[in-house]
Amino acid sequence: MIPYGRQDISEDDVRAVTRVLRSDFLTQGPEIEAFESELAAYAGAPHAVAVNSATSALHMACAALGVGPGDKVWTSPNSFTASANCARYCGADVDFVDIGPDLNISVAALRGKLVSARAAGTLPKVVIPVDFAGRSCEMADIRALADEYGFSIVEDASHAVGGTYQGQRVGGHGLSDITVFSFHPVKIITSGEGGMALTHSAELAERMQRFRTHGITRDPSRMTHEPDGPWYYQQVELGFNYRLTDIHAALGRNQLRRIDELVRRRHEIRGVYDHGLGGCGMVLPLPDTTGRSALHLYPVRIPAGLAGGRDKVFARLRQAGLGVNVHYIPIHTQPYYRQLGFKPGDFPEAEAYYSEAVSLPMYAAMTQQQIDTVVKACLAAVASIP
Ligand SMILES: *Cc1c(COP(=O)(O)O)cnc(C)c1O
Repeated sequence: MIPYGRQDISEDDVRAVTRVLRSDFLTQGPEIEAFESELAAYAGAPHAVAVNSATSALHMACAALGVGPGDKVWTSPNSFTASANCARYCGADVDFVDIGPDLNISVAALRGKLVSARAAGTLPKVVIPVDFAGRSCEMADIRALADEYGFSIVEDASHAVGGTYQGQRVGGHGLSDITVFSFHPVKIITSGEGGMALTHSAELAERMQRFRTHGITRDPSRMTHEPDGPWYYQQVELGFNYRLTDIHAALGRNQLRRIDELVRRRHEIRGVYDHGLGGCGMVLPLPDTTGRSALHLYPVRIPAGLAGGRDKVFARLRQAGLGVNVHYIPIHTQPYYRQLGFKPGDFPEAEAYYSEAVSLPMYAAMTQQQIDTVVKACLAAVASIP
């Protein structure tokens, strides 16, 4: 089976992890800060806070921005459920903004919803745009709306580390208040499990660091009274243990050294797919326009009239040994969100996309033979008589 995504681990990655296993610190050691400062420098942001997943990072970002009961957080329905769950962890209400042709949150739909929300007194505190498949959202437009309507931006860039927007790296352009990356093995670089939040705000970084470790501070200037002694710390709020280990950080750090090569390889694969599948009836991903996609996914659409439709084509691709997948089941149609009052039909563009979507295998470690197998299997699957 050729999976839709998988990690690319080098011998040097293995050595980096082994080195930590033989060192003094398996956690709370030097690898974490090194990973943070190297990724911050790579992206072009002054602050980075590493945690054990992007899900934790999204929760931490919402908490640092003061999201709580009674607040509203909006995100894209075309995402993994973690993009919405983070607001629920904080007790806030979630709503969604439908997607545009680039499969990201539609700026026009966002503007329209903000106009209505202002009239109704229900403006969001935070909006979480998701850089679907590695393609940056229209961040300049979303920033302009944030300034006009007074919300903060947490960019869920779980798919987009290594990508750019208008010539600057995702995470570094400063249009988002906080940018979140994931290092799950199917993403661009991996630490096993892991995530990181980047920000240009020293205050937000400080709040996130505290939240990551139980709400504890060791900084006397943040305590309610003079320290009792050199051992002293204070828990000043309720936090979590969201720490990444040094073992994971060492892997992520070593992978970061190859990130541009890993993204370049994904673009090579995209080139083969675009060329090999052009004209076959599948609707291929849009070309990059506002920046360079990190190409986490290569999602195609199978129009209803093509070779029996998506479900049939999907089954044939699986039959041919491709671990194709579907990204995403619209979040608002999940039973948990239906219980909260959402229903099918609420966000028709995301639902229409879901009904036609297939993610083809896309990862840097693919061999030339695997890439050719994917193209041949796709051509055969759409040529079949239903
Ligand atoms: C993978 C992913 C997450 C969650 O990442 P984890 O590191 O697995 O917690 C969140 N949002 C999106 C869009 C993702 O693809």
